Amino acid sequence: MNTQEINKRIRLVMDLRHKGITDMNVLGAMERVPRDYFVPAAVKDQAWDDMALPIGRGQTISQPLVVAMMTQALELSDMDKVLEIGTGCGYQTAVLSHLCRRIYTIERHKPLQVAAQTRLEELKLRNVTALAADGMKGWPTMHGIDQAPFDKIIVTAAARNNPPQKLIDQLKIGGKMIIPVGGEDGQVLKLYKKDSVETTSVKDVMPVRFVPLLPDIAPDDMSEDVA
Ligand code: SAH
Repeated sequence: MNTQEINKRIRLVMDLRHKGITDMNVLGAMERVPRDYFVPAAVKDQAWDDMALPIGRGQTISQPLVVAMMTQALELSDMDKVLEIGTGCGYQTAVLSHLCRRIYTIERHKPLQVAAQTRLEELKLRNVTALAADGMKGWPTMHGIDQAPFDKIIVTAAARNNPPQKLIDQLKIGGKMIIPVGGEDGQVLKLYKKDSVETTSVKDVMPVRFVPLLPDIAPDDMSEDVA
């Protein structure tokens, strides 16, 4: 890493502190994960700026502040098993992988999922399991094995009204889920806590703008995704 690159990383971390990220573990993970590695060549120059960037197939890599806020809100422990919906390029996954025991991540665009999995393997982040599927249905039972319930769930695409019931079902009692909720007229990042089998409490974190959470695996022609 050259001096210029180190400076860019330090500048981003200082920017995040300034904007309200106080958890030192989260700041450490944000400094460690090479964001430039996750973005297309055309926008590499902006990789260390605090802004969302395009990653192809009409999707975006989230703004670093939003990644850090969502991660901080989950209050992760290194014992946590985490479910992530919306792998995208895998950047948020990489940040989480430094802060929890194991992460299961789902993306509905097969080409994005394959590229993200390759990046995560190249970075030797071995506590990640990635899957191309519809994350609204939660993590599927595979070979007779259930990974649910999860200690924490993070959704990085916006639910129209409420979080999918299947995700609430897969959350451990006492577990937390962070998810943007709302439509084109505005979304709010919400933190849900599952208090019992039937009750959840919710807290607003910040206004955000995410791509929508959509059902099913994306068709190859992407017809439904292009705005
Ligand atoms: N987490 C990414 C941001 C991804 S953008 C980051 O680190 O920057 C949101 C992603 O959610 C998109 O790639 C989109 O295809 C995906 N998505 C939307 N609905 C989904 C669903 N039902 N299941 C899985 N992924 C979904």
